[in-house]
Amino acid sequence: MQEPAIASIDLDPVSLARQDVVPDGLRLEQALALLSQAGWQPPADVADQSVPWLQAVIDGLCDLSSRDALTGLANRRQFEAAIAREIDRVARVGEPALLLLADIDHFKKVNDTHGHAAGDIVIQTVARCLQDCVRPMDLVARVGGEEFAIILPNCPPAFGQTVAERIRLKVAHRPVAIVGGQQLHVTVSIGGAFAPQWVRSLATLWSERADQQLYRAKAEGRNRTCLDMPPLTVVSAEEKGLLFGNFTPVDASAASGHAGDAPKTTP
Ligand code: GH3
Ligand code: MG
Ligand code: MG
Repeated sequence: MQEPAIASIDLDPVSLARQDVVPDGLRLEQALALLSQAGWQPPADVADQSVPWLQAVIDGLCDLSSRDALTGLANRRQFEAAIAREIDRVARVGEPALLLLADIDHFKKVNDTHGHAAGDIVIQTVARCLQDCVRPMDLVARVGGEEFAIILPNCPPAFGQTVAERIRLKVAHRPVAIVGGQQLHVTVSIGGAFAPQWVRSLATLWSERADQQLYRAKAEGRNRTCLDMPPLTVVSAEEKGLLFGNFTPVDASAASGHAGDAPKTTP
């Protein structure tokens, strides 16, 4: 009678050996020190120095290099990879996506008045607040000292202002507790832009448009939201009549079915 397959896999000396060892001479001390400083623990169910253990070390290092140390948010490196992927997806799939840039208002004054440590607590609190207001599919990143970026895939232009305002108000209403029992109130200015749909473009151009809106929000008095809205193509009932007037109903529904593949907004 044939042995069950599971027994032959477990006892296979080749697969056992493959699981066993990390190559001799691999210097991991510095990597392990960095990971341990960041609170990383090896998985409990893998043997020390085994290949799965080495994989966990590599995964830990990847995670460490894509996160901001102060807030735990995605860092600029992860943000740049994500925005490049998103602009490519919007060009291919045509789904609307919004980029928001949020900058803490008069933050230098917080540092000057309450000290750098209090400033750090403000940055951490704003980071948590931003993370709390978004969907799991959205990416919140710290892209500068007191500057954050939020990529919101599948965000229709009609909801953009509401989403951005909700975020701005959440920050304004969340008090920041600093050492000494004091509470600070901070605000953010937000600039936003939608990715051009169905068009090959560059992430840097998308970011620049959001940045111009952030600049406008600051110039117009701070603690406000400015969005670069995509131009709407509004087809009136009269225009629809002119477009489809000469078609039979079957032609018209076929034509509007095809229109589902075409851009609904102009770039
Ligand atoms: P605005 O409303 O125009 O944005 O003014 P602001 O004071 O927020 O902007 P400004 O660029 O003048 O100051 C930003 C300050 O943020 C300067 C810098 O020292 C401080 N900063 C940058 N990174 C950190 C950090 O990690 N921790 C702390 N505490 N401060 C930081
Ligand atoms: Mg600022
Ligand atoms: Mg700034």
